[in-house]
Amino acid sequence: MDISVIIPLFNEEESLPELQAWIQRVMLANGFSYEIIFVNDGSTDRSWQVIEQLQSEHPEVKGIKFRRNYGKSPALYCGFERAEGDVVITMDADLQDSPDEIPELRRMIVEDGYDLVSGYKMNRRKGDPLSKTIPTKLFNATARMVSGIHNLHDFNCGLKAYRRDVVKNIEVYGEMHRYIPYLAKNAGFAKIGEKPVHHQARKFGKSKFMGWNRFVNGYLDLLSLWFLDSFGLKPMHVFGFIGTLMFMLGFVAAAAVGANKVYCLMHGVPARLVTDNPYFYIALTMMILGTQLFVAGFLGELVSRNSSERNKYHIEKEI
Ligand code: UDP
Ligand code: MG
Repeated sequence: MDISVIIPLFNEEESLPELQAWIQRVMLANGFSYEIIFVNDGSTDRSWQVIEQLQSEHPEVKGIKFRRNYGKSPALYCGFERAEGDVVITMDADLQDSPDEIPELRRMIVEDGYDLVSGYKMNRRKGDPLSKTIPTKLFNATARMVSGIHNLHDFNCGLKAYRRDVVKNIEVYGEMHRYIPYLAKNAGFAKIGEKPVHHQARKFGKSKFMGWNRFVNGYLDLLSLWFLDSFGLKPMHVFGFIGTLMFMLGFVAAAAVGANKVYCLMHGVPARLVTDNPYFYIALTMMILGTQLFVAGFLGELVSRNSSERNKYHIEKEI
């Protein structure tokens, strides 16, 4: 099979028939063999009935139905598990992404050798309020910096194309769909590209991602990814190092405070009580914090030792 199209959706009943027809038109025109996997993320409208209807008319249509709303990342994860095509395309269900982009996206994977090609919504900003565009710019700049993928303008675009290996080797969870290129890079897929794509205004319904908290969550997710990437397999190296360093500094400072006091006593110089010396408390705090950080590293080490993933490496080839 040439292409799997994965479409996560939450309450998008009006768009589905049009989207399916459009994808079918593009696939037939290019002679691709394909499947469309609709992942119904706990919709409360008639989306699932619409998918069943489409499925009965078109054998390429497949459906996964969640019992409740889990989020876009879990929906993508289940779609990825089921995908059989050589190239996997993800797109939103709201008709904002255009299926006309599929042939070129596929060509970039198959001919240019990209592992992942992300869409870049060039013309989208016109309609969007500043409260959406400014955080998005900030968000992408941070994501570029942390992930080291400097050629992507738009991490969170729903329209993306992947080589099948990529989707079978990454685990999208929580709200990590915003960082799939970073996940792919961490899994060892280095050739990540971008294609400017057309982006329409939403035709039906309204956006399922609103409000500011998504940016707070987005940054926290980025932080955990960065941490997992850098220290996930060796927590002791970071916590143990900082902890030991702090403890040593504290210890030396405490010793200096003590030595100073002893020196003063021996030479009859009047000196204040050790407990009146602010350095004493700073030293004490550093020793306590240092010990705690060290213990955190040790616990992290124990946790990662017990994790079933501890020896899960991505092997590209064996001969
Ligand atoms: N979506 C989903 N589960 C959710 C929220 C959204 O599957 O909990 C789907 C939604 O139906 C759409 C896609 O994710 O197909 C992108 O959502 P939306 O268009 O609302 O986001 P925006 O374009 O405003 O960023
Ligand atoms: Mg949308």
